Amino acid sequence: MFPANFGYVAARSVEEALQLMAKHGEDGKLLAGGHSLIPAMKLRLQSPQTLIDLGTVPGLRSVSVDGNSLTIGALTVHADIASSELVRKHVSALAEAAAVIGDVQVRNRGTIGGSVAHADPAADLPVVLTALNASLVAQSASGKRTIAVDDFFTDFYTTALNANEILTEIHVPIPPAGTGTAYAKLPHPASGYVVVSAAAMITRQASGTCTASRIAVGGLGSGPIRAIATELELQGKPLTTQMIAAAAAKAAEETDPVEDSYAGAEYKRNVVTVYARKAIEAAVERARN
Ligand SMILES: Cc1cc2nc3c(=O)[nH]c(=O)nc-3n(C[C@H](O)[C@H](O)[C@H](O)COP(=O)(O)OP(=O)(O)OC[C@H]3O[C@@H](n4cnc5c(N)ncnc54)[C@H](O)[C@@H]3O)c2cc1C
Repeated sequence: MFPANFGYVAARSVEEALQLMAKHGEDGKLLAGGHSLIPAMKLRLQSPQTLIDLGTVPGLRSVSVDGNSLTIGALTVHADIASSELVRKHVSALAEAAAVIGDVQVRNRGTIGGSVAHADPAADLPVVLTALNASLVAQSASGKRTIAVDDFFTDFYTTALNANEILTEIHVPIPPAGTGTAYAKLPHPASGYVVVSAAAMITRQASGTCTASRIAVGGLGSGPIRAIATELELQGKPLTTQMIAAAAAKAAEETDPVEDSYAGAEYKRNVVTVYARKAIEAAVERARN
C-alpha cells in the first residue's frame, strides 16, 4: 500500500528541526531511519503532511565516553551500536540487543532514538536500556531535560517525550568493575521482533555474592518492565545456578501479559523465566571475567 501524499523537509540542526516542528504542528512528523514510521504511513496508520528529516542533522550519530557514562546520539543506527568497541566493552548487552534487531537493512537504517521514541512494546532496545538504567535527553525550544528510563515508557507506543521535544542523546552509565550485562531474546521467526526478552545487569563480588542487579523483561506489557522480585531475590545472595534459577522464576511476577498474535499470556509467563535465567547467567559469567 502507498502512503498518503506528504511533503519533506531536511533539517540542518536540532534548532531548525524544532522550528519546523513548531511551524507544522500536528501535521509534521520527525523522520529518523523511517523503519517504523514509513511502514505505519504505508498502512495509513499515520498520515503526516510533512516529514521533518533528522537524518540530515550533523552530530547526532556517535558513541562517546562522557565521564562515567556512554553518550549515544539519537541518530546512531543499530549496526553502529552493535559494532561499537565502546559499547561492547562497557555494556555488552546493548551491542548484543542491537545485533539481533530485524535484519541487516533494518540495522543499517533504524536508529536508537527512533526505536525508543516509537516505543513499540516488541522492541529490543527499550528492554536493555531499562536494565542498564539509561537516561534520555529531550530538547525543546526552551532547553534540555533528562528523563530516567524508568519514567520514559508510559504506555503502548507512548513515551514521556512532549510533542515539542526531540530526543537528542541517550546516556548509559558505565557499570562498576565486577559487573556483567547480557540480553536474551525469543524473536518472532518472521520479523525478528521480541516475543519475550530479558536483559540483566549484575554486579558480583569476588566471593561470588551479588551486590547489585537490574533486570528488565520485554514482550509482556506496554513496554519494558523491571523484574523487581527477581532483582531482590538476587541481591546479597551467592550467584549459584540454583539461586539464579529461583530468582528467574520470579521474572513474571510484576507482569500481566496480554495475549497477542504471537503467543498466549501463560506461554509468555513461562518462557520469560527461561530468558531471564539465560540473561542473568550470561551477565554473571561476564561479571566473573
Ligand atoms: C522488517 C522490520 C523488522 C524489525 N525488527 C525489529 C526488531 O527485531 N526489534 C526492534 O526493536 N525493532 C525492529 N524493527 C524496528 C526498527 O528497529 C526501527 O528502525 C525502529 O523502531 C525505529 O527507528 P527509526 O530510526 O527507523 O525511526 P522512524 O521510523 O524514523 O521513527 C519512528 C518514530 O519515532 C519518532 N522519532 C524518531 N526519531 C526521533 C527523535 N530523535 N526524537 C523524537 N522522536 C523521534 C518519529 O517521529 C516516529 O514517530 C523492525 C523494523 C522493520 C521494518
